[in-house]
Amino acid sequence: MIKRSFIGLTESKLKCDLVEPGPKEPEAIPIPPRLILMLKEPLDSTKETLVKKGDMIKKGERIFLYKDSREYVLSPVSGIITFIAPFTGDFGLLATYLVLETNAKQDIDNSFAECAAIPDIQTADSYLRGIPGNPPLQLLADAATGGVKSSGININKIVINGVDEDILCTTRQYVLTRFRDDLSKAVTLLKQLTGISDISIAMPDALAKLSAFNSLKIVKVSSDYVHSLSPMIMDKYLDISFVPGKSCEELGVCFISVEAAISLVKAYSEKQPVYEKIVTIIDKKGKKSRVSATIGTPIHRIFTKIGVETAEKDRIIIGGPLRGVAAYTLYHPVTPDMDTLIVQDSSEIPMISDYPCINCGKCVRICPAKVPVNILVRYLEATLYQDAAESYELFSCIECGLCSYVCSAKIPIFQYIRLGKYELMKIETEADNG
Ligand code: SF4
Ligand code: SF4
Repeated sequence: MIKRSFIGLTESKLKCDLVEPGPKEPEAIPIPPRLILMLKEPLDSTKETLVKKGDMIKKGERIFLYKDSREYVLSPVSGIITFIAPFTGDFGLLATYLVLETNAKQDIDNSFAECAAIPDIQTADSYLRGIPGNPPLQLLADAATGGVKSSGININKIVINGVDEDILCTTRQYVLTRFRDDLSKAVTLLKQLTGISDISIAMPDALAKLSAFNSLKIVKVSSDYVHSLSPMIMDKYLDISFVPGKSCEELGVCFISVEAAISLVKAYSEKQPVYEKIVTIIDKKGKKSRVSATIGTPIHRIFTKIGVETAEKDRIIIGGPLRGVAAYTLYHPVTPDMDTLIVQDSSEIPMISDYPCINCGKCVRICPAKVPVNILVRYLEATLYQDAAESYELFSCIECGLCSYVCSAKIPIFQYIRLGKYELMKIETEADNG
């Protein structure tokens, strides 16, 4: 088993932003007349769907696509389904989106309330998937059954993650400080749900000084960029070496965002799922605002409400500047894991090129995982993914995005890496399915 020691020849000088002191409450975005719900299961034209156009849906109801579906999406409002269509995301993500027109009268589905008295992970997985922060309930439920159901993963450590994973993002830190009095409840609830007693809270070093965290097991993380990524937290602060090709969960550590942990606490105390996602918005001038929006709200509603302007060729980034992905439409909905939206003016979108690598070596020096990026990128450009994985350490990459950031030839290295990993995973899945 190959283990890696991190930090390449040059340490990144980038620092992660800290949440502003005494942050304001997020601005509440009104529930729009139509929500767009994303169901992580593709439409299959050979099967009859369970949910149909014209169906009335209650608030809190789980919507399944087919009779035998395991995936579901929670409805944040009661309303009527007006549209069902396929959705194709990055790297072949196939899903279905459902448009839900909101009713004035809100009928509530009480299925979760009826079994919320005694928290257990199977119930949580059955009723609370997709609440804000996107808790990994399926994985924890699977791990609780000995990991035998599907993944074979056994979790023995949980980290409630209050560290934001990209340089300008501060949503998790906001939730960490705003709901700090509820963190011990989150630890207790997660212990009760999973039976795992080793639960710690990762937070930026500067925030760990706040006295409210004294009674908790804290992992203090440097604000230097790349320390904020889960494999780095595991390697640097938990003393568990990263193994190329394995996720943190496969190494026994489950990271759950602090917003997900707090959403679980709220759901169990209020005996109903929660739907309000906190999102940090960064406008073209770099000004930050924070909103609370119902999952499924189209993002243009947020921009209009808080006065953020967008023009035709501007780019909207979901996530941070180094690791984020572009949103292709202003109708993209707020999703459970959407922490940050950045609006980038069309004149400031960094150029990418099809120039060849000039072998400057910057990517190799900056790479924290010591990947030979300059050679790897040649194999990825030539779509030789198997060679890239076997000989040039594709799976050692922890997806920090620094190589693309420093590349002299402006090669979109990070995108090539993600595509390469996706193509190999697809081949593996197809082989597993015969
Ligand atoms: S994204 Fe680039 S710099 Fe970061 S770990 Fe991967 S190869 Fe290295
Ligand atoms: S930074 Fe870009 S140009 Fe320089 S060696 Fe790496 S891939 Fe080549």
